[in-house]
Amino acid sequence: MIRLQGIGLPGIVRGKAHVLQSRSDAAGENRQQPLNPEEEKQRFEEALKGVRAPMRSGLEASTDKTLRELYAAHLEMTEDPALVEGVLEKIDERHCSAEDALDAVKEELQEMFSSIDDPLIRSRFDDVRDIIKQIHDYLHPLHRPLPLSNLAEGTILVADEILPSEAMRIDFSKVVGIVCARGNVTSHVCIIARSKGIPAVIGADITPICDGDILEIECSANHGPEYPEGAVVYANVSNAQEVQHALDLGVAGIGLFRTEFLLMQREFVPDEQNQYNVYVQAARLCGNKPLIIRTLDLGGDKVLPYMPLPSEENPALGLRGIRLTLSQPDLFKIQLRALLRASTEGDIRIMLPMVSSLDEVRQTKEMLQCCATDLAAEGVPFRMPKLGVMIETPAAVFMAEELARETDFFSIGTNDLVQYLLAADRGNNAVSYLYSAIHPAVLKAIRMVVEGAHRAKGEDFTIEVCGEAASQRESIAALWECGIRQFSVSPLVLES
Ligand code: PEP
Ligand code: MG
Repeated sequence: MIRLQGIGLPGIVRGKAHVLQSRSDAAGENRQQPLNPEEEKQRFEEALKGVRAPMRSGLEASTDKTLRELYAAHLEMTEDPALVEGVLEKIDERHCSAEDALDAVKEELQEMFSSIDDPLIRSRFDDVRDIIKQIHDYLHPLHRPLPLSNLAEGTILVADEILPSEAMRIDFSKVVGIVCARGNVTSHVCIIARSKGIPAVIGADITPICDGDILEIECSANHGPEYPEGAVVYANVSNAQEVQHALDLGVAGIGLFRTEFLLMQREFVPDEQNQYNVYVQAARLCGNKPLIIRTLDLGGDKVLPYMPLPSEENPALGLRGIRLTLSQPDLFKIQLRALLRASTEGDIRIMLPMVSSLDEVRQTKEMLQCCATDLAAEGVPFRMPKLGVMIETPAAVFMAEELARETDFFSIGTNDLVQYLLAADRGNNAVSYLYSAIHPAVLKAIRMVVEGAHRAKGEDFTIEVCGEAASQRESIAALWECGIRQFSVSPLVLES
């Protein structure tokens, strides 16, 4: 039996290891020669099938014209003989792996595209690159949709890393623990595990663990956070059931409803009515307590298998959060309409993630206005909710005064703010020694935000902290010193 120290509710859990193969063990680049061409061709064809499936369901389910065109174009590309025959021929000729054949074909296609004069057609190589990356990812078991549906009772999942979109597909009723080599308490898998009451070990050495090993995870007693008198405590949730659980624990409202998980749990984007139903259910549960609903925070490490996004060199600095939703107005409007309609049922407030400019807020306001005008014309009841932003980027810190003038409240997302201020990836163990919410630079930034907001709107302007720092003993006092009076935390920390 292997014993590990974890984080979560105090106690010991025991279970059987289910090891999700890591990238370095993956087939392909690390395979031993000689390679069997028939096997490689079969791997490639299976990967093609795997990549096509979510495109097909996306095409069937999507009502967005642009998205449909994108799915259709990508599907067509996965059938292009230059790609498919090209790879199969390379495997036959060179007796190489499917990955090597893909790379060779990618190079040939790149050369071909770069010789095209028309810049528009030339830029289509980005889509080809994207498809090839998806096939590559599929060939690597870590990136392939994980076999998470048939888990045995009492499973402890062991992986190098579990991406948020993968975490959302885990059947948690069978899982008693999670062990990951990479990540930290602010990793999404950890946040989700905590919300489900499942102990997690992050940063573990997983090399000695084999499939079927009996593992024991011990979580020591954590006395839970203590807040100064006068502090207001809200909860972070990702579905309506968690709202009820949080309210039962006596919170003053919901400070962060992460809506992207509603999409990650499905095979398609929930339509307006579907989203409306979830928001109304949550609003009715909250009664007159505030319910802060964050608009989709996708991109970065939160990707949907059925919604292909262009691959990015540096996703953490790429098309994330508000940038992504503004770039997909049809998708964004579905959510905004659902939120405007649901706002008649309670104190819903809309919050925008990853804001780095005033323009993003203004554009969102215009879209809200446009949705409101449409709803009014359709005779559908709605209410214009309060609008707030998350302070997660250094730009938002420096623009706090201006942002406060445009909005009704702030929520400081320390999980991201710390990573962007300290240039230390929130999921990278190697730099976790730098990652601290009580780093003087972070506290100075939070003070600037409070002062800027007070200058703009006075001391009653609402500023909460909704990152993990809001629930850690050592940071609560420091945040209080900076003028923070509202804390939004995972309900689980309130149980301990
Ligand atoms: C944050 O960044 O602090 C936050 C609450 O958002 P998420 O953890 O979902 O990125
Ligand atoms: Mg964030």
